[in-house]
Amino acid sequence: MPTLPRPPRPFLVAVLVALLCSCAGPGSAPAAAPAPGPPSTPTVAPGTPVPPEPSPAVPTASARPGTFPLPPGATVVIDPGHNGRNGPGSGIDHPVPDGRGGTKPCNTTGASTADGYPEHAFTWAVSGLLADRLRARGYRVVLTRDSDDGVGPCVDVRGAAGARAGAAAVISVHADGGATSGHGFHVLYSSPPLNPAQRGPARTLADAAVASMRGAGFTPATYIGRGGLDARDDIAGLNLATVPSVLVECANLRNPADAALVRSPQGRQRLADALAAVFA
Ligand code: ZN
Repeated sequence: MPTLPRPPRPFLVAVLVALLCSCAGPGSAPAAAPAPGPPSTPTVAPGTPVPPEPSPAVPTASARPGTFPLPPGATVVIDPGHNGRNGPGSGIDHPVPDGRGGTKPCNTTGASTADGYPEHAFTWAVSGLLADRLRARGYRVVLTRDSDDGVGPCVDVRGAAGARAGAAAVISVHADGGATSGHGFHVLYSSPPLNPAQRGPARTLADAAVASMRGAGFTPATYIGRGGLDARDDIAGLNLATVPSVLVECANLRNPADAALVRSPQGRQRLADALAAVFA
C-alpha cells in the first residue's frame, strides 16, 4: 500500500465529523470491509485519507453491537431449506455447480425428527415467521420458494438468489440431522472466501447470527463447529453467493430436546425472533 503524506490533525477531525454525520445514509457498508452491490455515497474526495471507521455498528441509528446493520428498506433474501416434494422420483438429485469447481445434488429431502417432523416444514414455518418480523420493520423480503409443496429450487439457484434480488443479506434456514447426542445451533459461512462479499461481510453476518442466537438463549452446537460458527467450503449455496450469506442450522432434529423445540410453535417463534434480531 503506498504511503500517503500525513494530513494535519484538524483535517482528520473534520473528516471524522463528516463521516459521523452521514452515518445513517443508505448504502453504508455493514462492516469495515467493503460490501458488494450499490457503492456507498462518497463522503470525501477520492484519494483523501480516511480515518478508521469508529465501529461497524454505526451505519444506522438503531444499530446494536453484534448485529448486522441494514439500510432502511433493504432487501433480505430468506432461503427456506429443501422443499415439500423433494424426494425419490422428484428428479432433484441431478448435479449442479458447487461454486468450487465440483458439483452437488440440485437439492435434497432434508432431515427429520425421529417421529417424522420434516426439515422442509420447519424451515418453511420459521422462514415465514422471520419474513413477518422483517417486513414489519420495513425491510423487503424475498423467499427462494413460494410454497412448501414443490420441488427444488436447486442449490445453485438459491446461491444466486441474493444477487438476483439485490439483497443486502441472505439467511438460509435449516435444521441438522446429526447424531442424537449432539444439540444446539450452528451458523455456516463460506470459507475460504471466493469473493468480496464472502471475504468480510459474510463473516460479520455469521458472527451477528451467532451472537443473536446466543443472546436469545440458544446453545451453540455441541457436536460440530466452534462456538456456534462453522466455516465451510462444501456448501454450494454459500460458495455461489455474491452478497453476504449464511446458513443457520437452527437445531439438531435428531436430538430429542432440539426436536421438541422445533416442533413447538413457541420454539419456532423464538428461533425466528432470534434470526430477526440479527439485523440492526
Ligand atoms: Zn438442511
